[in-house]
Amino acid sequence: MKIMDGKLVSQAVKDDLRKKVQELEASGMKKPHLAAILVGNNGASETYVASKVKSCGEVGFTSTLIRMDAAVSQQDLLKEITTLNDNDDVDGILVQLPLPKHISEQVVIDTISADKDVDGFHPESVGRMVQGLPAFYPATPYGILLMIEHYGIETKGKHAVVIGRSNIVGRPISILLNRNDYPGNCTVTVCHSHTHNLKDICLQADIIVAALGRPEFLKADMVKEGAVVIDVGITRVEDPSKKSGFAIKGDVDFASVAEKCSYITPVPGGVGPMTIAALLMNTYKACLLRNKK
Ligand code: NAD
Repeated sequence: MKIMDGKLVSQAVKDDLRKKVQELEASGMKKPHLAAILVGNNGASETYVASKVKSCGEVGFTSTLIRMDAAVSQQDLLKEITTLNDNDDVDGILVQLPLPKHISEQVVIDTISADKDVDGFHPESVGRMVQGLPAFYPATPYGILLMIEHYGIETKGKHAVVIGRSNIVGRPISILLNRNDYPGNCTVTVCHSHTHNLKDICLQADIIVAALGRPEFLKADMVKEGAVVIDVGITRVEDPSKKSGFAIKGDVDFASVAEKCSYITPVPGGVGPMTIAALLMNTYKACLLRNKK
């Protein structure tokens, strides 16, 4: 069994990006600039945005963090996005989700300029991805592809089972694993909360992507010997033994599943850091496109 080390692979991606930014600067071009909007002060969102901003600094990107009150109106949030859309210095815009209930996430996503959509959630980005055109892929699925590529894992002709069909993880990774490219060319089964015989389906999988948000859901008796298991889940569960009062759990029962796998991602330290690396990659690509224009 081999651990797919998201910290190590994301560091390799960042090291490479830092060099690329230096090359951009040396050739007199502008460096990538990511603008992040954080609405309210949800603990997990604060942590995610802070690490995205920190990672920008590590690779030499410019970053701007715009904080808005939880009570901000949708109209004012959209106005801020439009200002960033019109700002020529900004290459990528991300609005940290989830948003307060009075704001429509779909309207917010639709308002971000497609050429600055580094989270890859805009319908134009999704449409391009589905059609196999160059696109900003959603960061978590893109991070998974980068990790599979780093470890040189064969995907062609494999049966991949994706558990979860959300717009940010399950559905896009199912499309990407099914595309005619590497990593890809899998036969993909997408499972969800209405799927019957999930255990039987998982037992047929060469690759399992668990993205359902149920701590330690995937048990050893659901996994074929030698399978590749990618754990996307991040759930905070109460743990009085921790200083923070909670522990982070993935969707995979790592202790029992790991020994059956050829490769497995840990939580934390697996897909999470890769998501940030992929966001940086998208921002770099957005900057290159703008520099070309
Ligand atoms: P979501 O709640 O939007 O979607 C969950 C999906 O799982 C749904 O499609 C649902 O049908 C399916 N599901 C739920 N229970 C099921 C069951 N018993 N059997 C089969 N399918 C079931 O969640 P999401 O936004 O896709 O996130 C999933 C998990 O991944 C969460 O724990 C989230 O925190 C985590 N996540 C991690 C990263 C990262 O960077 N590592 C990024 C995004 C999300």
